[in-house]
Amino acid sequence: MATVEVARPNEGVDNLMLGYSDLRSLQTRRPLVIARGDGIRVIDENGKSYIESCASFFNASFGYSEHELAEAAYEQFKLMPLYSSASHRTVDVVLRLTEMLTARLPLPDAHISYCCSGTEANDYAVKFMRYRNVYEGKAAKRKVISRQNSYHGSTVVDSSLGGAKGLHDSFALDMADYRFVTQPDYFNNRLEGESEAEFVARLAKELEDVIQEAGPETIGMFFAEPICFSSGLTPPPDGYWPAMKAVLDRYDILHMDDEVITGFGRTGDWTAVDNTLGFKPDLMTLAKGISASYFPFAVTVISDPVYQGMLKGNDIQHGFHHAGTLHGHPVGAAIVIRVIELMEERKVLEHVREMIPVLHKGIHAWRGHEAIADTRAVGLAGAIQLDPAAFGPKGEENRGQMGQRLLECCMERGLIVRPRADSVIIGPPLIAGAADYEEIFALLALGMKDLQEEMRRA
Ligand code: PMP
Repeated sequence: MATVEVARPNEGVDNLMLGYSDLRSLQTRRPLVIARGDGIRVIDENGKSYIESCASFFNASFGYSEHELAEAAYEQFKLMPLYSSASHRTVDVVLRLTEMLTARLPLPDAHISYCCSGTEANDYAVKFMRYRNVYEGKAAKRKVISRQNSYHGSTVVDSSLGGAKGLHDSFALDMADYRFVTQPDYFNNRLEGESEAEFVARLAKELEDVIQEAGPETIGMFFAEPICFSSGLTPPPDGYWPAMKAVLDRYDILHMDDEVITGFGRTGDWTAVDNTLGFKPDLMTLAKGISASYFPFAVTVISDPVYQGMLKGNDIQHGFHHAGTLHGHPVGAAIVIRVIELMEERKVLEHVREMIPVLHKGIHAWRGHEAIADTRAVGLAGAIQLDPAAFGPKGEENRGQMGQRLLECCMERGLIVRPRADSVIIGPPLIAGAADYEEIFALLALGMKDLQEEMRRA
């Protein structure tokens, strides 16, 4: 076992900026510092081990110690460690990967644009829509509709189309080109007495109203996850996608499918549209699982009809004005090729399909627990929503933060879960097996007991 050098108490922290963290408390309270990985576990600087039950941010699909991927990277580093894919030049591994990807994606004759993160891939999807519409003679058609309470990345564009008003305000974002509709979260967003079918019809009508109000000639794209993972894991009710898609088709609006989390195995297939939606989007983005996150790597996938529109804009002098020095990085490409090979050699998608019912059973076993308001599970992920009222006055005080409180208790027990408001989510590495799920749910139960006791004592 490698020895772990323990850093001095706050060494390196004073000058570190960490996102989604309290910048002030970071200066006085040391964050969790991970030193190494072992399968689905991470080990901190003091040697304490944690199961990463949400695969970091749903991204560590092969866990934290897959040496096959390290080997693939090392081999490529020795052969050709970098090269920019642009200006009519590229590398052989990028060509090989493009062939492998297009054969596995649900869009026939799709075109692949490479970049380094889900954030970038989503930003470019909006940019490509604008470009295509400029050269299709409808430049005004550039606004984007997305859904409240969603997350699509961290650039100015992505932060704007993520539906969090507080975030729009704190970064003074110009929101002129963005509109929002309700998340298809039936449990939390339904009206009193509303059936699922009525809820779906109301959301489709809302989409149509938003389009009409903005002017259909100004709306270029609808941007959404196929299953809302970023809003706390809320599977859309049956009929939601056909109803929404019918509205989009009526107004010539491109459907952009954010598969940054759902893509590459999370739903037991290469993408969620394969088995969940039953129809094809116009653009699609993949990141996270595509390289198992062993390298910053992502793609924007463009359907052939959209690409044909983009072809009209090819400038004679400069060609297509878009590239990035590190886009299509050869080491990243070599890792993604190995990810695809390993997924097939080891039948990872089949394994995920076997584990989905195991995970769902473990999640729904919490139904009826005195402290639980709702349970949700879809693909290889599940959420339990805590009922703050069940924890007495202390629970009420922590309403909206109960997920975070449970995470803190679980971490003491060696389990990292993903908090979201009053829910916690699990979505382990794809490689997790039945024994791992048993351990995850046992630790979660211990964490819950600790939280109940702590709140009762307070
Ligand atoms: N889209 C979704 C749905 C995401 O969850 C995320 C990241 N959590 C992103 C996009 C952004 O991806 P990245 O963090 O790789 O930039």
